[in-house]
Amino acid sequence: MKNKGLVQVYTGDGKGKTTAAIGLASRALGHGLKVCYINFHKGEHKDEHYGELKLLKQLSVDIYRFAERHPHFYKNEPVEKIREECLLALKFIEEIFQQRKYDLLILDEILISVRDKFISEEELLELLNKKPENLEIVLTGRDATEKIIQIADLVSEIKKVKHPFDKGIQRRKGIEY
Ligand code: ATP
Ligand code: MG
Repeated sequence: MKNKGLVQVYTGDGKGKTTAAIGLASRALGHGLKVCYINFHKGEHKDEHYGELKLLKQLSVDIYRFAERHPHFYKNEPVEKIREECLLALKFIEEIFQQRKYDLLILDEILISVRDKFISEEELLELLNKKPENLEIVLTGRDATEKIIQIADLVSEIKKVKHPFDKGIQRRKGIEY
């Protein structure tokens, strides 16, 4: 990609953070850019569980998952283990930086890792400092921290006005996953 790569943040309590990131991936792919998608804390579903990941795979996007078990859903998961897996993810992302293989890197829910202290704010900032010039990075997750917001070039906060979960409508295949 000839563009300078920026840091984007999609945060807030409304629906649309992951879908925004995936929408961006579709735009990049349409222009032949190389995309890598990494998620955090998404549970132990196979990639095929998520319609968007199924599609990204078909489009030859490289997909990786780290720290699948979040204590919110897996009450007995040791936090040290989650922390270790997040550290592995940070190392892995640094390797990706060195490879210069991608134009767009999506770190889905990494802001949750920071919010829940599996990754410190400083660790994420240090990582972003090492970002190659031409790589665009997307961070998603609720509760982006102040410093992350400061260093990002683009921040969109998606505010919930209504969500069907509030009236008991369960997650729907093809809509929520
Ligand atoms: P989506 O993946 O639909 O773009 P999201 O990435 O903005 O949503 P997350 O915080 O990652 O939202 O939420 C994970 C799951 O919870 C998704 O299935 C999403 O649809 C749903 N969700 C999003 N916002 C809310 C909300 N305000 N209340 C309840 N559930 C929500
Ligand atoms: Mg999401």
